[in-house]
Amino acid sequence: MPISPRTFHVVVCDTCGLDDEEVIALHETREDAVTAARRAGWIIAADRTVTCPRDDHQHRAAIDALMPPEPPIQIDGQLPLDLR
Ligand SMILES: [Zn+2]
Repeated sequence: MPISPRTFHVVVCDTCGLDDEEVIALHETREDAVTAARRAGWIIAADRTVTCPRDDHQHRAAIDALMPPEPPIQIDGQLPLDLR
């Protein structure tokens, strides 16, 4: 029986360190790992930040940090509120 190395990809949460091995199988390619993790509710941002689906304060804060800042809303005729 030959012995040969195998490479597998596992997604790991940047917030808690949970890996998807406990939830979904090992994956032969990075793309397969990303696809399976997203189907299981994981968030993988464009900058490769990974957040598992746990719902606690730390994970909600991590997701909030991924959101872009809210744009300033100004109604026509309203003076700008940020007068520096
Ligand atoms: Zn997590």
